Amino acid sequence: NSAAKAPPTPSPLRFSKFFQSNMRILITGGAGFIGSHLVDRLMENEKNEVIVADNYFTGSKDNLKKWIGHPRFELIRHGTADFELCGNVTEPLLVEVDQIYHLACPASPIFYKYNPVKTIKTNVIGTLNMLGLAKRVGARILLTSTSEVYGDPLIHPQNESYWGNVNPIGVRSCYDEGKRVAETLMFDYHRQHGIEIRIARIFNTYGPRMNIDDGRVVSNFIAQAIRNEPLTVQAPGTQTRSFCYVSDMVDGLIRLMEGENTGPINIGNPGEFTMIELAETVKEVSFNLSASPPGCESGLVYFLSVAHCFLLINPEVKIISVENTPDDPRQRKPDITKAKELLGWEPKIKLRDGLPLMEEDFRQRLGVPRKN
Ligand code: NAD
Ligand code: UDP
Ligand code: UDP
Repeated sequence: NSAAKAPPTPSPLRFSKFFQSNMRILITGGAGFIGSHLVDRLMENEKNEVIVADNYFTGSKDNLKKWIGHPRFELIRHGTADFELCGNVTEPLLVEVDQIYHLACPASPIFYKYNPVKTIKTNVIGTLNMLGLAKRVGARILLTSTSEVYGDPLIHPQNESYWGNVNPIGVRSCYDEGKRVAETLMFDYHRQHGIEIRIARIFNTYGPRMNIDDGRVVSNFIAQAIRNEPLTVQAPGTQTRSFCYVSDMVDGLIRLMEGENTGPINIGNPGEFTMIELAETVKEVSFNLSASPPGCESGLVYFLSVAHCFLLINPEVKIISVENTPDDPRQRKPDITKAKELLGWEPKIKLRDGLPLMEEDFRQRLGVPRKN
């Protein structure tokens, strides 16, 4: 029956049941890892109404289950009767909102490379649509860009004035060039139409609710350690990344949205690790060494602590070297001077303190309790 399949005419979603003084906030990609933590934080404020648009490509309704049915929360269904396309930002979207956090885009290399044309459409058409929406309703819009805009960086650490070293035709380009175009669109709408924009350049972020098998390095290593599988360090293993815990990230994004600066502003943790160091750290914390033992810093206590660490490292977990993928950036570390000065923001959670929180979440989801 063709009438049943006809797409419904989109009509603006209004929240007339709420007081006008409430802040209406759209989060695209709100069912994903960072997006769902952002939803949690924004829902804590009773003056916020949160609307999520997501096509569930890499996100899940499970991440939002505590809010489904809440009177200040709404999941968008629009555009077409096809489930896959519900909440897809590549379709025009009509909602009445005050702020837009535009996160929709797969972030894990295996997912963004899986359908690169879809990734670039999400970045380009999706961002264009969200800017058209921001223009129509006069909303402020924040884009979650990425440290990938710096490509394989030739300066270290990376500050926001660096223009980057990106391969425009490589397998990662759908993501990094896609985000670069998204940034360009943001600034063109700002200059041409006076749209209030905010751009965050996010560096590698980790924490509970990451997809267990999404292929990113921290989720891979933690899942592998819990399953007693070898940790797969991609060659050469000396490449570096800097890992930010998700609660710090969400705090930085909200400060940027609420502040006066357009950005781009780096949001990330400057603590830099080689992938070999990361594997060793995961191996240690996955065997109950969640934080540096007290008094670790000096003399005999330090010696005993290190000996204790070696005894406790899970001997069954091996670290192996595997082949890398093309165009893997060799080093990455944010210069966060701007975030400190303009947003009063810096990360609080160290890698060694964040990893056990993520491990606990993974153990619960994998059904593998910790052996003590
Ligand atoms: P994620 O994959 O968990 O979340 C992305 C969400 O966007 C998912 O829920 C997915 O279903 C949704 N989505 C994808 N395509 C869509 C589309 N066309 N329409 C609607 N929804 C769509 O990733 P994440 O780690 O939460 O990343 C969120 C944002 O932060 C992304 O924009 C990403 O580029 C950026 N970012 C993340 C990191 C990181 O380390 N996590 C680093 C740099 C930038
Ligand atoms: N758009 C949208 N929601 C809106 C307003 C616009 O999704 O509330 C989309 C619209 O479909 C268009 C894009 O945003 O594809 C850019 O809109 P804009 O008005 O800037 O450009 P134009 O429609 O004039 O090309
Ligand atoms: N990596 C690794 N083992 C894995 C997955 C990734 O050594 O199982 C490496 C990868 O080569 C890269 C780094 O970890 O150097 C970060 O990769 P990820 O996919 O997490 O994020 P990226 O920063 O590349 O987007």
